[in-house]
Amino acid sequence: MKVTLGFDDTDSPLGNCTTHLAFSLLSILKEKGWKPLDFPRLIRNNPNVPFKTRGNGSVALTFLVPSSLNFEKIHNELSTWLFNRTADHEMTNPGFILLVGELGSELSSFAQRALIKVLTIDETISLLDHPSVYYSFKGTGQGLIGSLAAIGNELKNDFTYELLAYRIANNRGTKRRIDRESFIRLDDSSFQTFSSYDSDTGRIASVPNGPDPVLYGIRGESANLLISANSVIKQLEKIEGWCVFRTNQGTDEHLVNAFPSLEPYEVSLIEAKVVNEPDIIAGGHTILTLERSSDGSQFHALAYEPSKSFRSTVKELRPDDRLIVGGSIRGVSPSELPTFNIERLDVIEVAPFSRLVNPPCPSCNKRMESDGVNAGYKCKKCKIKDPSATKVPVFESRSLEKGRYLPPIGAHRHLTMPFSRYDLAKQKKTYSTPQWSDFLSIDFSHANKEHVDFE
Ligand code: ATP
Repeated sequence: MKVTLGFDDTDSPLGNCTTHLAFSLLSILKEKGWKPLDFPRLIRNNPNVPFKTRGNGSVALTFLVPSSLNFEKIHNELSTWLFNRTADHEMTNPGFILLVGELGSELSSFAQRALIKVLTIDETISLLDHPSVYYSFKGTGQGLIGSLAAIGNELKNDFTYELLAYRIANNRGTKRRIDRESFIRLDDSSFQTFSSYDSDTGRIASVPNGPDPVLYGIRGESANLLISANSVIKQLEKIEGWCVFRTNQGTDEHLVNAFPSLEPYEVSLIEAKVVNEPDIIAGGHTILTLERSSDGSQFHALAYEPSKSFRSTVKELRPDDRLIVGGSIRGVSPSELPTFNIERLDVIEVAPFSRLVNPPCPSCNKRMESDGVNAGYKCKKCKIKDPSATKVPVFESRSLEKGRYLPPIGAHRHLTMPFSRYDLAKQKKTYSTPQWSDFLSIDFSHANKEHVDFE
């Protein structure tokens, strides 16, 4: 019998991590003799939902188990185990789902919508009220949305892998000790990794900040190659172990499904025309006004200061340039127009752009000065006055090229496809049913041996 467990919203800004709970739970299920049918799946949902702690990630685990098992008891024991380990925080509203068998096509459409829209707890519960489903939650139950979306997203098209290495309990909250060189070299090696190092900012993108238990995460095209890559990373800290997840990270799965929406928090892909020249606002962010091609509605588009070189590209945009922007409308806009955070930019057409400048002196060719309101222009040097002269257009040479622009790797969303994957993503990808050793390694001299009694 196929059984899928899904869970989410177990962490808070103060610690914990849903993938780490998956790592611990997997050690329990391995002990029980459950047979994995898939790698653990780490699904990133709509990156703009206001309830997220970091990257809006949720986890699904799929197994083949005897149909004689008492699923209700297993659900009760595992959810109690999980909820005892979730953060005690107002932003933590965990959900846990156990699905026996399949739930039908509605489930995969729910998962696709979870990538781009803001879904409600009510619509989630109406799908969960089904004889094959056992579910429980704490707090508001918000976590059920990501849990169900993870179960429903079976990554049938493009996918990648991430190997996450976990810190031992005593080290969490302290500065991570990592060998920078190991990560800097990684993406240029033959391990098919991506987004390990952000050469624009010098930041190791594989290493998070903050109190969560992840020491580093390496992303790549193949689980086997990630395990090989991990063995060449110089370990400066002891780890509890590692787990390889199959994931939609780096696939653009959200943008593939997006509409030209101007609704707050929705993932959106909009064809638009530039209305005015970009401006720099407080904090160093670049802002400009765009007009949606479909209906002429206007919105502000923002490139954040941390997006560095991307911001410089946005600064080069001029009125009438045509674009497709990927991103989302902010919840609260700092201006009267809806404000769009740009995550990806396609320049489709670079329009000619001219500025009006003072006319040239007919004698020395230098720019003349105004001779007063409606009084024309004068050249002091040549002592020439021309009362009928007006400003003249001067065309700016446009160095901006048509094409796709992305922020530097360190400012990517988890879902953003980096340029390095563009060719790989076109190839059809498959995977074989994994063995435990294909994705899990736990060192019980550093990790707690967990146990749950459900038989
Ligand atoms: P981490 O990456 O460390 O796991 P997180 O960023 O995933 O943290 P959560 O604490 O899991 O953040 O919070 C995200 C919340 O948003 C969860 O409750 C999840 O169920 C919910 N959620 C996910 N996708 C949607 C969606 N499309 N609509 C509404 N709620 C969603």
